[in-house]
Amino acid sequence: MLEQPAAAALVEAFANTVDVEEDSDEIATPKGLAVWLHDRGLRPARNAVPTAAHAAYLVLRAGIREQLGAHVGDTPDEGLVAAADKVLAEHPVLVTADGTLVTAPGLPAEREPLVRLAIAWSELTTTGDAVRLKRCAEHTCGWVFWDVSKNRSRRWCSMKVCGNRNKSRAYAARTRTRTSAG
Ligand SMILES: [Zn+2]
Repeated sequence: MLEQPAAAALVEAFANTVDVEEDSDEIATPKGLAVWLHDRGLRPARNAVPTAAHAAYLVLRAGIREQLGAHVGDTPDEGLVAAADKVLAEHPVLVTADGTLVTAPGLPAEREPLVRLAIAWSELTTTGDAVRLKRCAEHTCGWVFWDVSKNRSRRWCSMKVCGNRNKSRAYAARTRTRTSAG
C-alpha cells in the first residue's frame, strides 16, 4: 500500500507549513494560519485565528515534526513531543459506533481543524502508515515527505539534492581528517 492516504497528505501539508531551508513559515501568524486553513478547506472563516488557538497549532506541529524526524533515526525532543501530547489531550475526540473519530460538539470553530489534524495523525499511527511519513534527515532541509520505497528505507526528501548534499559533506569531512592526520 504505497499510495498516500488522505490523512497522511493532510499531516504532511501541515508539517510542511514551515520551510527550514527557506526560513519561512506559512502559519507563523494567526492571520497566516487562517489563510492556510481556509485554503485547505478546513475552516470556512478567513478571519485570524485567536492567539491561544494559534499557539496550540504551532505546538502540535512542532511535536509531529519531531516524531517524523524519529522515523529517519533522529532523536525527538521529548519536551516538544510532550507539549504536543498535552494539546491533543486538551482536544478530546469522540469515537462513533462504527469506530470513526469525530470532533466533539461544542468545540470552538477555530479549534475544529486542529482536531481534524489530530484525528488524521491518530489514524496514521493506528494504521502504522505514520512510519512512511518522515522529516528529511538533512537538518538544513527538514522537509516532510511520504516514503514510497518498498522497504521504507528513504531518509532524505530527495536523493538528488539532500542525499547527495549529505554524502558530499561526509566525504569532505573524511578528506579533512585524512589531510590533518597526514
Ligand atoms: Zn531534504
